[in-house]
Amino acid sequence: MIIYYEQVHEEGYSIDTSFSFAEGDDKFDITSFSGRVDKAGDAYVVTGKLNLHFSCPCDRCLEPVKMDINEDLVLTLSPLGEYPPMNSDGEDGLSDEEAGMYVTPKDSFDIHELLREEALLLVPEKRLCRQDCKGICQGCGAALNYEKCTCKKVTDERWAALDKLK
Ligand SMILES: [Zn+2]
Ligand SMILES: [Zn+2]
Repeated sequence: MIIYYEQVHEEGYSIDTSFSFAEGDDKFDITSFSGRVDKAGDAYVVTGKLNLHFSCPCDRCLEPVKMDINEDLVLTLSPLGEYPPMNSDGEDGLSDEEAGMYVTPKDSFDIHELLREEALLLVPEKRLCRQDCKGICQGCGAALNYEKCTCKKVTDERWAALDKLK
């Protein structure tokens, strides 16, 4: 969703949008962003409320993890246009050296691209279905949160067999 700087007048410009994207198994659903962009000297400032619904597999057991994240954003846009313009993969043109600071093309910015970058920053690095998730047994593949590991049983039977030989 491209917004042209020439659309931003004295009274600012309202932004209301929602969209979804995925990064591998991570699913981001921006249920709403409602805010505005205002001119501030040579820069522009985007302010607004981001409502994000995020889901991904648990790091340990692969069960789905879902979370809702609500965040007030303040993003400063620098329309220098000296950097490669933003493209759909979101790698170029964004200066993430300073949090919330973005270099954009001279005439426009892609609000979805910015919100996408912010959404990626907002999700926690560690994603567990619950704090004490026991994960999956490497040996037998049991989902240890609600299944019993059968590895130990096999070992026990072996010991029992050895015992019989004595
Ligand atoms: Zn888990
Ligand atoms: Zn096991």
